[in-house]
Amino acid sequence: MSLYNFMFADSSPMDQPWFIDSATGRTFTGTEIKARTDALAQGLLGHLRITPTSSTSSVHLDCGIRDVVGVVCPNSVDFGTVVWACHKLGSTVATISGGSTVDELKHQFLLSGTRTVFTHFDSLERVIRAAEECHIPPSCIVVISDMVDLQLSEEFQALGIVTVEALVRLGEAEKSLNPSTTVENHTSPIAFLAWSSGTTGMPKAVIVPHSAIIANVTQMKGASVPSGRVSTGDRALGVVPFSHMFGLLTLVHLCPHIGIATVAFKSMPSFNVFLETIVRLRIGHLFLAPPLVSAFVKHAATPNYDLTFLRSALIAAAPLDGAMESAFQKIGGPEFLVTQGFGMTECGGLITGLPCGTPWRPGSVGRLLSSTEAKIVDERGTLLGPGHPGQLCVRGPQLFLGYLGNAQATKDAFDADGFLLTGDIGDMTADGYFHIVDRLKYMIKNKGYQISPAEIEAHLLSLELVDDAGVVGRPDTRCGEVPVAFIVLSSLGRTRAIHELDSVKDAIKRSVQEAKSDYKWLHDIYFVHSIPRLPSGKIIAKCLKEMLAGIKTSR
Ligand code: AMP
Repeated sequence: MSLYNFMFADSSPMDQPWFIDSATGRTFTGTEIKARTDALAQGLLGHLRITPTSSTSSVHLDCGIRDVVGVVCPNSVDFGTVVWACHKLGSTVATISGGSTVDELKHQFLLSGTRTVFTHFDSLERVIRAAEECHIPPSCIVVISDMVDLQLSEEFQALGIVTVEALVRLGEAEKSLNPSTTVENHTSPIAFLAWSSGTTGMPKAVIVPHSAIIANVTQMKGASVPSGRVSTGDRALGVVPFSHMFGLLTLVHLCPHIGIATVAFKSMPSFNVFLETIVRLRIGHLFLAPPLVSAFVKHAATPNYDLTFLRSALIAAAPLDGAMESAFQKIGGPEFLVTQGFGMTECGGLITGLPCGTPWRPGSVGRLLSSTEAKIVDERGTLLGPGHPGQLCVRGPQLFLGYLGNAQATKDAFDADGFLLTGDIGDMTADGYFHIVDRLKYMIKNKGYQISPAEIEAHLLSLELVDDAGVVGRPDTRCGEVPVAFIVLSSLGRTRAIHELDSVKDAIKRSVQEAKSDYKWLHDIYFVHSIPRLPSGKIIAKCLKEMLAGIKTSR
């Protein structure tokens, strides 16, 4: 079954709002989205017929079976429409972050075999440049305009670039001329090409079948927040990028499927406007990466808003410590149910969550979703018991098929029994709650002792002086490596640092000394404006190491 058929099944809440534009408040029901999706699929086929094939290339707007369509876009009310129209035509969608640079776009277009690109006006110039270098003609570029009838400049029109609106109108016109016209419903087994986090090396294209997303939505619907807490008219916070698996699973598919309208934020506004929008639109279901959780807790504006209407929050993509999770829960009323979920792009979204009615345990990523198996093993693959941290390995219907064109990486990703090796260190309690304690892929060793950067980062993030932090190992002749931190100061920290920079550094170092064993103590602190993170919120360790190397060289 394709995601088109799944989302528009008779049992779907078609008459309810599915997507709302955070800036304009415009609302689109499931019925409206389906009509638009069908018209777009029709229009794409029509455009195929009327677009002359370029004399220099045999490639034209070809959305046929097994073709790959790149979607380079910030969060938009049209995201689902574009994805499901492509699925209806049997195409595979490569989801690509709207903020990608030309080089990143080139890498992703080439690796995925993208032949048609949907993009937003904001990324259009970059997409044109990357497409040119990948021999994708401009007539294969379609501009998503958030359902606004955007007029392209003459220069772009001359290149043959079209808008989604124009294709929808084309599809509607064809349908009214010939009402019996229907676009045949194709299904290719591959729904998405997504991207592994890429903190080591270049991103790999993760092959995600339709069945993985359908399975994960069904698992979440059966047993996890926010399911079980949905009332008519509920809304979800759409700030997590739809192009990332966390947002794609929860905000594009799960929420509309269970009757929650996703409020799409094209970009993150100022925190005051953000809070004001949440209150004005009564957005009761939050999907967040940890940095935003800590912003909610620490921002001076939060107490000015009554957030007692909040119903649920699902936090994933990076570690969050229990104290911060508890403090976050307090910003809502007693009914505000907060939970973490552990996920990976390779897992079609999520592996754990909090089944309805299960007690909340701050700091835990919850329990396994249904039909999902996990084991925790040591370096030799030996099974470890409850309470013993080791590599978390998972198996379930939501898993990816492999990395496109990279048989070795695919082979290395799984063990002999088909369990995915997550590269994360976790443990499980005797009653089935999981904790992620570190990443194998990002570790510091001081005199042979393992240090979890994630553990120190979580501590630093809990300090009032700190807004964000990334910890990395600095090579050291005596110890092998010692931990150092890059820190973004909070407004309080900045105010204090103006007068007494060293005392702020000392206070931060001292708090680590008080809370952690001596081998975990910070050897240096560098104040920065931002921590390099992926759109999902995950720290890019490679960038921190480069920043560190820069500091050493400039000394
Ligand atoms: P991505 O593929 O970008 O979703 O990144 C997946 C990785 O993010 C995992 O392998 C973990 O290292 C990390 N991650 C995701 N969810 C959590 C969580 N709830 N707690 C700790 N780490 C997480």
